[in-house]
Amino acid sequence: MTDVHTGRDEAADSTARRRALTDSAGAFARSSAFFVTLAARVARRTESQAAGNGAAAHAYLGEEIVPELESLGFDSRIFDNPESDEHPLLIASRIENPDLPTVLLYGHGDVQFAHDSQWSAGLDPWILTQDGDRLYGRGSADNKGQHTVNSLALRTVLAADGNPAEAVLGFNVKILMETAEEAGSKGLRTFAAAHRDELAADLFLASDGPRIAADVPTLFLGSRGALNFRLVAHEREGNHHSGNWGGKLRNPATVIAAAITELVDGNGVIRIPALRPDDPPASVLEAIAKLPDVDEEGAPEVDPDWGEPGLSPAERVFAFNVLEVLALDAGDPGQVVNAIPGTASATLQLRFVVGTDVDDFEERVRSFLRERGIRGVDVELEHCMPATRLDPSAPVVAAAAASIAETTGGEAAIEPNLGGTIPNDVFAEVLGLPTVWVPHSYPGCNQHAPDEHALTSILAQGAEIMTGMFWDMRAHPGDWFTSK
Ligand SMILES: [Zn+2]
Repeated sequence: MTDVHTGRDEAADSTARRRALTDSAGAFARSSAFFVTLAARVARRTESQAAGNGAAAHAYLGEEIVPELESLGFDSRIFDNPESDEHPLLIASRIENPDLPTVLLYGHGDVQFAHDSQWSAGLDPWILTQDGDRLYGRGSADNKGQHTVNSLALRTVLAADGNPAEAVLGFNVKILMETAEEAGSKGLRTFAAAHRDELAADLFLASDGPRIAADVPTLFLGSRGALNFRLVAHEREGNHHSGNWGGKLRNPATVIAAAITELVDGNGVIRIPALRPDDPPASVLEAIAKLPDVDEEGAPEVDPDWGEPGLSPAERVFAFNVLEVLALDAGDPGQVVNAIPGTASATLQLRFVVGTDVDDFEERVRSFLRERGIRGVDVELEHCMPATRLDPSAPVVAAAAASIAETTGGEAAIEPNLGGTIPNDVFAEVLGLPTVWVPHSYPGCNQHAPDEHALTSILAQGAEIMTGMFWDMRAHPGDWFTSK
């Protein structure tokens, strides 16, 4: 025994303690106790796209989540969804001192349609089934496994000194859980706006979606936006004989084809200036340059000459916009007749990065087409989800990456935003938070399809990573809560 600790001893002690905790969280994620917890959660039929599952959603929050959080010292409250009778939400908070910084965690207790009959023999979406590294079950990856790992990590850090309910972290924790994520996060935006004060925080941290590859710990910081719209050309009712009328009547299918070509050329390059983003910031390009090349089994070959010239395929997905034609409609391709169709339409989608101004979208596309001599095409906006992106050079990103490096010994891949779209704007814009996502799944997890599964190895490493993060937040709050 000695009373004289050198600084180096203390640092070594703290490193050893951190390692002991992350190891124990990882071991717990591989244990039968974790399996039993996740199995009970998977067994809850919380399909949010189907009607009639409100009671299951409520029970998921009330019986699976609330008791666990209570034991960690949280006050929880379940709220009705402002836009639905069947998709309740939970806010839980663990306030040590209102003056301390706060991290807001998020998860979703609902799952996609299970499509029970389409699962492989021996598998049932509602019965968690282990096969080697795989844990099969609806929600095992999206999102029940992921938020279960995060509360395990939080528990590990809270229990480091004894009773988790009484532990002192030095920061507050809030948790928002919804049960409508797979139904377009119905009501989430309205709810968050109405509960801004209760959800006030300094950092948003959550886990959902896949890593860039199974063995590469990943951070993503936002998502591209998605804007779906239709081009519609209606000239007249009915079709008209192409021999008798061709040359006399405007053909709306020809007009739609021309309109598309004005917006995006035959090599996938966006031609309308309003839909092109500014040059990506250097910090975004730097993060993308470090992303590993991923060979996904069964994935199609990348077309090297497609899309914006001068950008790598990864830059096209993570740092630029893309305009895709999703569907075309004119005539009857199955039973073609020699006639000029009266109506034609196309559905397009713009995936866009932060900085693209989509205000007044319809009028801007209409007037561009008019300027280019395209007449008779209307533009109808179908739906739009905003783009969000925390700058990869933000200090909290460095803290998260350093934390992952210490825990795993490897470098995290940092995606400035997902290529796809999630309602991250609720957290980034409505709540005004820096958003950091740490996914605990992988591209082959069959999320949203039959045979969805989590990998135990990723859940365990995810538990280690999150434990390290909560530990580091406690040790160095200034690195994580930079707005305080
Ligand atoms: Zn999902």
